[in-house]
Amino acid sequence: MKKWFKALTKSRNVVTDALTNVFSRKKPLDDETLEELEEALLAADVAPRLAGQMIVELEKSSRGKEVDGRALLKGLLMDRFDQQPAFEWSSLPQGACVLVVGVNGSGKTTSTAKLSHMAQEKGLKPIMGAADTFRAAGTEQLRMWADMVECEVVAGEQGSDAAAVAYDALDASISRNRDILFIDTAGRMHTKAPLMEELRKIVRSLKKRLEEAPHEVWIVLDASIGQNALIQARVFNEAVPLTGVVITKLDGSSKAGFLFSVKEELNVPILFTGLGEQKEDLVPFSAEEFVNGLLDIDHAPAEV
Ligand code: GDP
Repeated sequence: MKKWFKALTKSRNVVTDALTNVFSRKKPLDDETLEELEEALLAADVAPRLAGQMIVELEKSSRGKEVDGRALLKGLLMDRFDQQPAFEWSSLPQGACVLVVGVNGSGKTTSTAKLSHMAQEKGLKPIMGAADTFRAAGTEQLRMWADMVECEVVAGEQGSDAAAVAYDALDASISRNRDILFIDTAGRMHTKAPLMEELRKIVRSLKKRLEEAPHEVWIVLDASIGQNALIQARVFNEAVPLTGVVITKLDGSSKAGFLFSVKEELNVPILFTGLGEQKEDLVPFSAEEFVNGLLDIDHAPAEV
């Protein structure tokens, strides 16, 4: 997919020189080239321990042999995603309630709307809940997006109780027989206890209406901040156990390497990736497109 390749330009640029250098020579990888490669991985924000492991593996597999180092590295990187299959909407129960969490500015509100758009494209009938009642512009912004993607939204007044808005949204979703509900939440200061308390309260409130809700809790992480996004995710995971990750702003990020640590750190799959600002720029995550785009591996692109 050309979009992936374009979105990964900055991260690819960080590793390209080293990769070309290392992999253009068809000979056993020596210490110097391996070191160069490790530096390149670190520059793309691959976690130091993981980058170190990659180098040891590469060294082991290539010792004394001519190898296709790029293919070898691709295999090692793909393994980090555990052969994760692409997300299927049909894996969600009818009437699923999805809580969308993350810090302000991560792309939560726009992603909530883009997810609704994607669900519509799949023939589902979504509805959104605007439970970011803290920010003055939070609800307004979701309403604007709701108009753009032509999706219904349940909202309250600014400053009103977020848990009550979430409850009303779930109630509306059930009574109007919607296929899926996405609830946008507040994201001020993830380190401050009140936000985490508010999220727990939202969960309790949803359970009063439907015991199984929320069926999913997806965190939105901004790729441009790299490893720091994982620190944020850990805090959220303690408050409301996460079931999926949405990565935004992969376009324009030079730190895409942190994606390799997501599964290990959080033990939840990356479901979607934001490759731009338009409504159709949120796409299901593809480990193969991601690794190919990063390592500059040519492939017959499936146009999407
Ligand atoms: P929130 O505060 O977490 O709700 O963040 P918003 O949804 O308001 O998004 C913050 C900014 O990030 C907006 O300008 C979005 O257009 C932008 N944004 C969100 N996702 C992406 C993405 O995948 N790529 C790019 N380039 N920008 C994005």
